[in-house]
Amino acid sequence: MVILVTKSISDTQGSKYVKEVFESVKKRNPHEPEFHQAVKEILDSLIPVFDKHPKYMEQGVLERIVEPERVITFRVPWVDDNGKVQVNRGFRVQFNSAIGPYKGGLRFHPSVNASIIKFLGFEQIFKNSLTGQPIGGGKGGSDFDPKGKSDAEIMRFCQSFMTELAKHIGPDTDVPAGDIGVGAREIGYMFGQYKRLQNAFHSGVLTGKAVGFGGSLGRTEATGYGTVYFVQEMLKDKGLDFKDSTVVVSGSGNVAIYAIKKAQELGAKVVACSDSNGYIYDKNGIDLETVKRLKEVERKRISEYVKEHPDADYFEGCENIWLIPCDIALPCATQNEIDETSAKILVTNGVKAVGEGANMPSTLEAVEIFLENDVLFGPGKAANAGGVAVSALEMAQNSARISWTFEEVDTKLHEIMVNIYRNSMNASEEYGHPGNLVVGSNIAGFLKVADAMIAQGVI
Ligand code: NDP
Repeated sequence: MVILVTKSISDTQGSKYVKEVFESVKKRNPHEPEFHQAVKEILDSLIPVFDKHPKYMEQGVLERIVEPERVITFRVPWVDDNGKVQVNRGFRVQFNSAIGPYKGGLRFHPSVNASIIKFLGFEQIFKNSLTGQPIGGGKGGSDFDPKGKSDAEIMRFCQSFMTELAKHIGPDTDVPAGDIGVGAREIGYMFGQYKRLQNAFHSGVLTGKAVGFGGSLGRTEATGYGTVYFVQEMLKDKGLDFKDSTVVVSGSGNVAIYAIKKAQELGAKVVACSDSNGYIYDKNGIDLETVKRLKEVERKRISEYVKEHPDADYFEGCENIWLIPCDIALPCATQNEIDETSAKILVTNGVKAVGEGANMPSTLEAVEIFLENDVLFGPGKAANAGGVAVSALEMAQNSARISWTFEEVDTKLHEIMVNIYRNSMNASEEYGHPGNLVVGSNIAGFLKVADAMIAQGVI
């Protein structure tokens, strides 16, 4: 590989250092391809930093930052509605606390394993740093599949999961939130169990809570809105905007729904979205209210949409959503959903901008295709940082025992996204890769954490 910087300066001290550390990561963490992928992307883009500032090599910052401070795995036993005992595996990776308590979501999905949680936790370090908020990086979850489970089963699972997790988290230690499969319902059940175990109302222990008990207005919308605000900045710099553009959004969960909403508000026509089975194409523009009801309330498949909208089509195979021509693509479902082939199709069809609402939805090869073809590319750790940024605002409100209005939160979110964009652009220029937001966001996120690690000594 690739992306970014290795081609031009393949024999520098920095590139040798990065290669050595990456080889040792692969050796020490075998069979973890997603973790390797995330580490590779970040390490390669940091080469110009090590060349310019050898102190980061001398202080062993990279060797330390790729090793989680703590990895916790645990048994999650629960009883299903038929009285049968089920056992899942729980994870929490506390990756880096140099600039604040560990912060990052919980994912409930059958694909969850150590590699997935470590890739997400590693990315979270840099993303959280980029927000400008005082939060470290962590991530967790379980291989539990919430699909098809009754409400009572979800509650029993969440209570069992939190019974163990509670020993490791706290408002000043580690503050989890939602992710795939974990929304307001699950956060509510976990918060209830934590409160019962502690016999205290520590509202700052989880974010993404309902507004009635410590949640922040605007948190539900934050990741999707933030992604669109970020893409808006990328477009603005090129004299473009969302108005009258054709947009394709993958997924139909929390991030996708609010990305669609904001894109529509800005005058775009969103013609497609998906779930893990397939995608819908509505040439008239997606009716978001139908999608919201089907996915958020009735928890049905996206295929049901076409029953209410006969002009729309449903296609099996979510990965084929990228065949639809669009000006702006917003992947908001899951990791590695855009591969090299899909990226080439998007480019051939004239895509102008790609903004990653999901975490690592583009493979390394796909990112390379976008960069080589001058597609404006907003990497997830910058473009989707709005969710965790507003989580940090939720923590601030909880500490101060106050609540801001939706408009106050949304204004702060907008400012944060503009700042992330500007800081990433500035770093890309300063380190010799102007306009490359992969390099820029990784460097901007890294420097703050690395400086804090050096200041705090070898720990
Ligand atoms: P949700 O669970 O609300 O929605 C996930 C959506 O993606 C669903 O439509 C789901 O379909 C689909 N999906 C899940 N797995 C796959 C798969 N293997 N293939 C295709 N589609 C899939 O999750 P979120 O919207 O919260 O998260 C989406 C992405 O955004 C994730 O990458 C997450 O890490 C990232 N993210 C989320 C943040 C947040 O605040 N929630 C913050 C930053 C990033 P189905 O209904 O069939 O399951």
